[in-house]
Amino acid sequence: MLFSHFNNLKLMNINKNEFLFLPLGGVGRIGMNVSLYHYQGKWIMIDLGIGFADETMPGIELLIADLSFIAQRKKDLLGIIITHAHEDHCGAVPYLWEKLQCPIYTTKFTVNFLKEKLKEFRLKDMVPVKEVDINGSINLGPFNIEFINITHSIPEAHSILVSTGVGSALHTGDWKFDPKPVIGSTSNVSRLKEIGGKGDLLAAICDSTNILSKHNPESEGEIYNNIYNIIRRSKKLVAVSLFASNVARIETISQAAKALNRKVVLLGRSLWKIVKVAQDSGYLTNSAQFLEAKDVANLPREKILLICTGCQGEPMAATSKLANRSHHAFKMQQGDTMIFSSKIIPGNETRVHNIYNAFIEMGVEVVTEKTEHIHASGHPVRAELREMYSLIKPKMSIPVHGEYIHTHAHVKFAKECGVEKAIMVAPGDIVNLESGEKIDSIDVDYFGVDGILLRYPESSVIKMRRKMRDAGAIVVTAVVNKKNKLLAKPKVFAPGVFETIEDAAIIQRIIKTVESAFGLQSMKKIRNKIESSIFSILREYLLKRPIIEVQIEQV
Ligand SMILES: [Zn+2]
Ligand SMILES: [Zn+2]
Repeated sequence: MLFSHFNNLKLMNINKNEFLFLPLGGVGRIGMNVSLYHYQGKWIMIDLGIGFADETMPGIELLIADLSFIAQRKKDLLGIIITHAHEDHCGAVPYLWEKLQCPIYTTKFTVNFLKEKLKEFRLKDMVPVKEVDINGSINLGPFNIEFINITHSIPEAHSILVSTGVGSALHTGDWKFDPKPVIGSTSNVSRLKEIGGKGDLLAAICDSTNILSKHNPESEGEIYNNIYNIIRRSKKLVAVSLFASNVARIETISQAAKALNRKVVLLGRSLWKIVKVAQDSGYLTNSAQFLEAKDVANLPREKILLICTGCQGEPMAATSKLANRSHHAFKMQQGDTMIFSSKIIPGNETRVHNIYNAFIEMGVEVVTEKTEHIHASGHPVRAELREMYSLIKPKMSIPVHGEYIHTHAHVKFAKECGVEKAIMVAPGDIVNLESGEKIDSIDVDYFGVDGILLRYPESSVIKMRRKMRDAGAIVVTAVVNKKNKLLAKPKVFAPGVFETIEDAAIIQRIIKTVESAFGLQSMKKIRNKIESSIFSILREYLLKRPIIEVQIEQV
């Protein structure tokens, strides 16, 4: 990864004894969770996740936070604490660890997950990933770091209690209170209550994902009967599409399949990876046997259940391949059932609906969480947030893990729950946790990962890509002599603007105006004339301003 773009921030003065919170990502937009805590001149980081780019960054899928601030202070960074194994919390480790070079602390499942991930990036033996017990704690310089087990949609999620000489803050991570999580134990509510009992928790840095939801709390344990009944009703092949990291859901589906005498086939590399990580960590030990497509080649379709990656319509994943009939081993048929045991992440609606429609056109029965209760969110709804605040009784709430629409609503709600103070923060804001005041702010940007290069959202490459996507380009090439006289007819290409054959007359007009510009004296005047005359021709046909590139070679 090339870091040449990293900012050279001016060194700012930070009072050594202040207990500070500084988010570098995870607020203002969903994903890219990275938080810093400071005390006595030392720093710790909680989570180092990736974000997912939207259509404003064409050609970019992954986003990573700008770590310039902490990279300049890496000698004082004591460690990275990972709350859980979701990509938005640990996915940037392979991209950014090199910049920080400090130990990583997390519990067994997340250690195993990270090691698999680092192996893919050929970094496994370089990055020190240290295992902490579930509900365990460690001392890092002036910090005591306590992992508090909490339920979510992946095993071993933890809230982190960061304690210093001047007080503590609870970084909730992603969580919900699930009485039946299917995998792993329930949330460590007694410890949360104990923290609240002391009445001195300075701040809760808390998950805002579901603040706008009107739902009641949902439990993973409620899903089983519904999934079981849908599979039981089906007389043909059943496939289930889900988030690969949802180990509890894999368990639920595999138990339902087992009970209904169907063999379970995993389709997708990330499912195999997560199953291996789960089994290495002591989970999924009593599940149905997970098989490959070739293992069930001789079984009738009604004896098979497929678990598939790609519930968000990812084009290369198993669900998409089944939808466009390009999967090498299975073709869905009339009467088969496709269950989407997941929700659509905002932004992916069109892609996922195209897949639903493709299945329906094949005569496949499509079941989604819109009509059947077959998915449970991993994040807290209002009732759970209220319970959390009443347990831990923080002096202040700092909502994170959301866009501003979420954190803004969460600020109001925290106050309704009796939290004295609640503040909204943006990436780069520095909050003194003892006084509860925002004391400063640093400039923080983010990058799109473009192969091994990093791109700012407003870099010229990205701006150019947006323009080319929306309006195309017109490229003019001409060869002239030393006196700027044309030596051959100029060439005009207009990819994304005009059709070569249907629009040939317009292209000819452009060539003519290009030719006429070469009567002018200076090269600058020639270029200006070419551009302005192309724009005036374009105005007659299109309300667009494509990129105009004029290449003149002088021989
Ligand atoms: Zn998250
Ligand atoms: Zn999560």
